[in-house]
Amino acid sequence: MPIIPENLLTSLTRLRTAGNPNHWTADTNHRAPHKPFLLLSILDLAAQGDIAQPFVEPSFDLSERFASYWSLIMPSEATANMAYPFYFMKSENFWTLVPKPGMESTLQQRQVTSMARLRGVILGAKISEELFHCINDKQCREQVRAALLHTYFSPDARPILLRDASENQEAFEYSQRLLAAAEKAMPYAATEERPRQVRDQGFRKAVMSLYKHRCALCGIRMLTPDGHTIVEAAHIRPWSESKDDRPVNGMALCRLCHWSFDEGFMSVGKEYEVLVSPMARAEQNNPGVIMTLECRPIFRPEDARFIPDQECLGWHRREVFKT
Ligand SMILES: [Zn+2]
Repeated sequence: MPIIPENLLTSLTRLRTAGNPNHWTADTNHRAPHKPFLLLSILDLAAQGDIAQPFVEPSFDLSERFASYWSLIMPSEATANMAYPFYFMKSENFWTLVPKPGMESTLQQRQVTSMARLRGVILGAKISEELFHCINDKQCREQVRAALLHTYFSPDARPILLRDASENQEAFEYSQRLLAAAEKAMPYAATEERPRQVRDQGFRKAVMSLYKHRCALCGIRMLTPDGHTIVEAAHIRPWSESKDDRPVNGMALCRLCHWSFDEGFMSVGKEYEVLVSPMARAEQNNPGVIMTLECRPIFRPEDARFIPDQECLGWHRREVFKT
């Protein structure tokens, strides 16, 4: 059975973290949780097969995992900032920052404390071969996870973080199944029993990867450095009515378009053009942006197998769209 190399275990359980009882709660043993959260997030990406080289990028997915852990146990006034651990992990022997070309001296001269600056200055971090091999081995990875949870979090906080990790992994596997089902044109098993949280997250992951965080109706794409996106994964026929999580029953929509779509102010036509309800036109106070979208082609996934299903869109035009 693979075990964590002793040197690595020592490094991972003796991270340099700032301690301050006034600032950090008992959930994190009164110490700054940034580095442990970042390492847990890296384990999650490794479990999804996303760490194929001994190199970690400050990706959107990584920020999202970091923010998820953070929001679970940190007080709401403390904001998640992955730039801190990504930068300050350089004091650990398994982590070497790699500057962008031309940014070598900038990186040496000033500390990096915001994600925007991090992405401007740093390509990523090279991790030790030891750590790389360990996190890509399932048993070793779970031992690292257990060691991190045990060392840096209270007994109350540990199961909460562990549950989030396993839900994320189940959601990832569900999203892979949804995408694979479409690829093989397999019939979709709508009756599969899964916890709602896993289904929602899995459907979301699948849709986000297909639309690359772009709103299908208006085309907006905005991501914050901290892992927030303007778009949501929307069902065309709602799950409650259709039990249909196929990606072709979904679109990524920004909040305005999502609301307008669900309320019937917008829909999608037979030629995949944006439809705007006459009711939206009659409303004096409506945001002009919706009107400018009328008849424009929607933004679709590149892969034709994932373009929204006209049966689902037809249902929306008949049942929801206000004509
Ligand atoms: Zn939109």
